[in-house]
Amino acid sequence: MEVVLAEHAGFCFGVKRAVKLANDAADQYSEGVHSLGPLIHNPQVVGQLAKKGVKRVESLSEIKDGVVIFRSHGVSSSQVLDDAETKGLKVIDATCPFVTNAQKNALQLVSEGYQVIMVGDRNHPETKSVLGHAGGEILVSESFEEIKAHLNKFPKKRIGIISQTTQTYRKFSEIVVKCLEICEEVKVFNTICYATEDRQTEAEILATQVESVVVVGGKNSANTTHLAKICESHNVPVYHIETAEEIKKDWFVGFEKVGVTAGASTPDWIIQEVVQYLEQL
Ligand code: SF4
Repeated sequence: MEVVLAEHAGFCFGVKRAVKLANDAADQYSEGVHSLGPLIHNPQVVGQLAKKGVKRVESLSEIKDGVVIFRSHGVSSSQVLDDAETKGLKVIDATCPFVTNAQKNALQLVSEGYQVIMVGDRNHPETKSVLGHAGGEILVSESFEEIKAHLNKFPKKRIGIISQTTQTYRKFSEIVVKCLEICEEVKVFNTICYATEDRQTEAEILATQVESVVVVGGKNSANTTHLAKICESHNVPVYHIETAEEIKKDWFVGFEKVGVTAGASTPDWIIQEVVQYLEQL
């Protein structure tokens, strides 16, 4: 079976940076290295780091001393940095610069007095970190109907819109256009990161060239899940897996060409295992 691998599959700049910072910390400090929440949304990489001594904790209260690494999605507010420093911890900030940028854009819109809308998932850690850093009241939603109901409470609709970095460009732009129809003033920051855009554009093309697509990455990874949804919208069978062990041979019976793409937090070794397994079929 022919296997077509997307050019931009796997680790993005922000994830590569976070994993390197964590590995360097594990090499430099023999013990007491902690990650506040999972460093990235890939269980296999988090498991590898744990074997090297990077212990995952959920809050600063679990850390007595040593090093704390802020994960790529950022921490819940700037207060966390103050609290870590007050405790005397060494802080390694692995927050992706694109997330930091979204935090700054949200803060700017709040301070300029806009009703701020963030297109995204309100339960995602990145969204929580943007909200925590910006303060103010920000509505997070992926539904224009919900946004509209919220905006109807305001007579003069001056709104600021940002996006979760992993949002699909299609959904973000659809919501922006609809908001333009009902608002007096709209200020938009496109905070979707280029790594997400590249992967989504390629997934869209790949899905039209193959008979089935395998999307590799954490089930808890927003950008991987979005890639799977984009491929599904082209009516080809799509399988979202974390490792090659999940593949079932009968998924591909009668197929000659299958595509493989992977989320921004999927390591190269897992992608290669999947490609090699599929090539043998
Ligand atoms: S997907 Fe984008 S925002 Fe998220 S870590 Fe990678 S580069 Fe940063």
